[in-house]
Amino acid sequence: MKIAIDIDGVIVDSFPKVLEKINEAYGLNLNLDDFRAYGLDEVTGIPWQEIMKFNNNLFLDPSWHLSLKPVSGAISAIKKLAKAGFKIHFVSDREPPMAGLTQKWMQKYGIENYWEEVHYNPDNIRFVDFKIQKFSRLQSQVIVEDAAHHIDLFVEKAKIFLLDKPWNQYFDHPKVKRVSSWKEITEDLIRK
Ligand SMILES: [Mg+2]
Repeated sequence: MKIAIDIDGVIVDSFPKVLEKINEAYGLNLNLDDFRAYGLDEVTGIPWQEIMKFNNNLFLDPSWHLSLKPVSGAISAIKKLAKAGFKIHFVSDREPPMAGLTQKWMQKYGIENYWEEVHYNPDNIRFVDFKIQKFSRLQSQVIVEDAAHHIDLFVEKAKIFLLDKPWNQYFDHPKVKRVSSWKEITEDLIRK
C-alpha cells in the first residue's frame, strides 16, 4: 500500500523553529497559536516573496536545518509503516536544493532507508498546485498532512489523516481523520 507523507509539521517539527527566527528577524512576538492560517505571509504581514526567501534560506543553513527535531512519534512510525509493507513517499513543498540536507536529516534519525522516494516542489510550481498534482499522480491509498487546504480533493481516493495544528483548525470534513499523534495513525493502519 502506498502512503504519501508530508515532511514539515508531520515528520520534521520545523515550524516552531522557523517562527523563532521570524520573531527575531522582524521584531515580532508571534506564537504558534497565532497561526490560524497556513500562509506565513497572511499571519506575519510580510510579503510572500520575502518571507519565502527568508524561510528557504533557513532551510539551506546546515546547522539550523540539522538542529530541527522530529515530530513526536514520527520516526518510529515511519519504521513501523515500512516494516508493515507500506511504500512511503514523502511529498514536500521543500525545493530541490534542500534535498541534500533533507537526506542528511533523515540519516541523522535513521530513516534514510525506509522510503521509496522524496518528492520536492520544483521552483516554478506554487505549493498548493504542486501537492495537488503530486497526490493525483501518486494515487496513494493514504495521505498524512498538517496543511488542510488541498486535502478535500482527495477524500474519495485516499484515507486522509490530518495532524491537529493551529493552522488547520478551520477545516472539518467527515472523511478526514483529525489525529493528535502518530500513534493514532499507526494504530489505525497497522492491524495487530
Ligand atoms: Mg506540512
